[in-house]
Amino acid sequence: MEPYAQIRELAARGRLSHAWLLLGEDGAERERLALYAARALLCSGQGEKPCGRCPHCRKVEADIHPDLIRLLRNPDKRDITVEQVRELRQEAWVAPNEAGRKVFLIPEADALNPSAQNALLKVLEEPPAAAAFLLLGKNPGSFLPTVRSRCFILRTSPGPEEDAASEDAARLAEAFVKRDPLAWAAAAFPCEKLEREKFDALTDALEEAAGLRAKAAEGPLRERALALAVLVSRMREMRRVNVSPGHCLGWLESMIFEEPETIRRMAD
Ligand SMILES: [Zn+2]
Repeated sequence: MEPYAQIRELAARGRLSHAWLLLGEDGAERERLALYAARALLCSGQGEKPCGRCPHCRKVEADIHPDLIRLLRNPDKRDITVEQVRELRQEAWVAPNEAGRKVFLIPEADALNPSAQNALLKVLEEPPAAAAFLLLGKNPGSFLPTVRSRCFILRTSPGPEEDAASEDAARLAEAFVKRDPLAWAAAAFPCEKLEREKFDALTDALEEAAGLRAKAAEGPLRERALALAVLVSRMREMRRVNVSPGHCLGWLESMIFEEPETIRRMAD
């Protein structure tokens, strides 16, 4: 589904996430999508959100909303620092000025260094009720798996290849959490010979799919989805040393019946 439509649909169902990862190549596109999400989060309109007409939507549009707060990289620094994130965290606990919540927008979230990401993770894990976070970046690899798994991930423009990857990934994730080796084999077979770039897209999509399943499921299914996310981030490391797609998928398959407990321990 087109990302703007996804935002409207989530808003209509009252299911807007408090943590977002907005990914895309083009900075202006990312910003546009982020501001749309910000309006949906702040909008006070009665019907479809964002309505585009209420004071909140208008103020976001004019970039003067007091509850839309940007965390920017200091121009003479390479990274967004952990101190900056700590300040943001404190600010997140202060009640909003005008809207129902505060929205923190981090346009260059891929400039958060690992310790800054860990500091941010704390507030993503236990968010103040009236705060939302929009993290923008080029690719999911710049973010810690723990941060990614807390975020609702949206892409500015999913291309046809990403669509194919997310379909395959959804089938693989389903087979994994349901412990269905036959379904796994059927889904994995066409992916074993993928070229490097396509397999990397599949890896990203599989991690997203595992995260989404973990959010939607409960009990053992949720545990297995979380375990899958751990395995996929391990698989990403295997890819760095050029382990083949067939081998990676075979390795994942060998983990289908492994206890989530054991898998989590492997990651430590
Ligand atoms: Zn509105």
